[in-house]
Amino acid sequence: MTKTDNTRYSCLRMKTQKFIFISGGVISGLGKGIASASIGMLLKNKGYSVNFIKCDPYLNVDAGTMNPLEHGEVFVTKDGYEMDMDAGHYERFANIELTRDSGMTSGQVYLSVINKERSLEYDGKCVDPVPYLVNEIIQKIEEFAKKSNVDFILIEMGGTVGEYQNEIYFEAERMMKRKYDGSITHIHLVYLPIPHNLGEMKTKPAQQSVRILNGMGIFPDLILARSETHLDKQRIGKLALGCGIPEDFVFSAPDVSNIYEIPINFDKEGIVERILSRYKVKPNTTESNKLKKWNIALRKAKNAKRKIKIGIVGKYIASGDFNLEDAYASVLESIKHASWYYDVSPEIVWVDSEKFEEEKQLNNINCLIVPGGFGSRGVEGKIKAIKYARENRVPYLGLCYGMQLAVIEFARNVCNIENATSSEIDKNAKDPIIHIMTDQEKKILNRDYGASMRLGNWNCKIIDKKSNAYDVYKSDIITERHRHRYEFNNNYIDILINHGLKITGTTTDGKLVEIVELDKKVHPYFIGVQFHPEFKSSLINPHPLFLGLIKECI
Ligand code: GLN
Repeated sequence: MTKTDNTRYSCLRMKTQKFIFISGGVISGLGKGIASASIGMLLKNKGYSVNFIKCDPYLNVDAGTMNPLEHGEVFVTKDGYEMDMDAGHYERFANIELTRDSGMTSGQVYLSVINKERSLEYDGKCVDPVPYLVNEIIQKIEEFAKKSNVDFILIEMGGTVGEYQNEIYFEAERMMKRKYDGSITHIHLVYLPIPHNLGEMKTKPAQQSVRILNGMGIFPDLILARSETHLDKQRIGKLALGCGIPEDFVFSAPDVSNIYEIPINFDKEGIVERILSRYKVKPNTTESNKLKKWNIALRKAKNAKRKIKIGIVGKYIASGDFNLEDAYASVLESIKHASWYYDVSPEIVWVDSEKFEEEKQLNNINCLIVPGGFGSRGVEGKIKAIKYARENRVPYLGLCYGMQLAVIEFARNVCNIENATSSEIDKNAKDPIIHIMTDQEKKILNRDYGASMRLGNWNCKIIDKKSNAYDVYKSDIITERHRHRYEFNNNYIDILINHGLKITGTTTDGKLVEIVELDKKVHPYFIGVQFHPEFKSSLINPHPLFLGLIKECI
């Protein structure tokens, strides 16, 4: 939808902006992020503009300092904000690009209040959490609403109802209700277990979770019930009665085999129509074309029978609270988008870089990806795997660290620079093929680790028209997102090029290497990129680099 359409609709239908809060109860891991993203996508599809805020309870100022095994992948927005993986769902489903304004963490809220207190902005008052923290949250939401100027602001409450750390956000919502009465909808996502020994779907935990919300002064307007199957009439009645919600505001969200089915299911259930009815407005179907495309892509996914095996070598394989799929979320989604586009079904062969010893492990893969990573653990395994892909003409895509390690492998095994490494691995390296620039070095010396990498959008110039990069992008200038500290060391450019490495993309000033490749005559698809294309792929717009990789496999 064009900007003009947006404005017209805002004026005609939405006199004021609306807020949709989304919370989760009973258990964690219900997929609040995907539910929020799906509702946002459908609202947009019905002709309304949307944007998202994620309220994260943790005290980290952003997700950038967290190990992916703690909290899943760190997603990077175009303006270089390091957000949690839900940002990826919002962008991929609702087809928007977020900015740092969409991220709120308790760390940010506390920091801001404490800074204000230190500069006497509260005029000598005793600064209690309520109302000062709460006001800070409300102010941030209001500023976001004003700046984004959209019809609907979807606010996802991180964590699960009933835990201590997210209460402050619910208190903010409760206080907002006074001022924005009639503009707020609260959606509560619950889980209905079917204990095997009983064989019956139980509603009590969901009712109790709503009671916890009620105790905080929040009375949800719509229930989304996750379970193995659809709710029957009796369960809907029980939930409606127990939660004080009309029956036609209780919806089933049964398990699905493919997360991209969720918005289609929500659409069939008419969830968004029900939300709009609260504001006495109707859908406008200008963007329905997008659902058509979505459905076509989904059908292709369902019909993709032929399997391809994709090797991923990484170190975030051992699982903590979050599993390995969360640690590489956007990479996995990008693989799916591109595979389904070519009517094949991807099967991931996980290779733990710390345990990787033998090429046997890679024997039957169709292509290899080394994704982003940090530190020296597992690096030698990744380099060995890259060597295998290079020598055996296995299609290879190196993402960020995967590009840097491909250059190191080439330097060691083709240019015979035995000690080739990155200064991230060895600070005093004799041959730092990948090195650190002075501004970054200073940051490390000062232990200034927060939000201090080369982050977000950078333009890249594709300087070789005969390259795979040009073939897939079909463009001279591209824009991609970054998240790294180390760079290709230009002192080694000549020796690497003379041995056959191709530099096919650089920053627009030509100073930093962005893309390296092998000649197509030597290897069909061997490409390493200093950026993260995985943040820009979606179901209906698979990323060119992943399309190139999968095409080569088949
Ligand atoms: N560790 C490398 C760097 O900081 C690569 C980072 C990444 O893969 N995102 O430069």
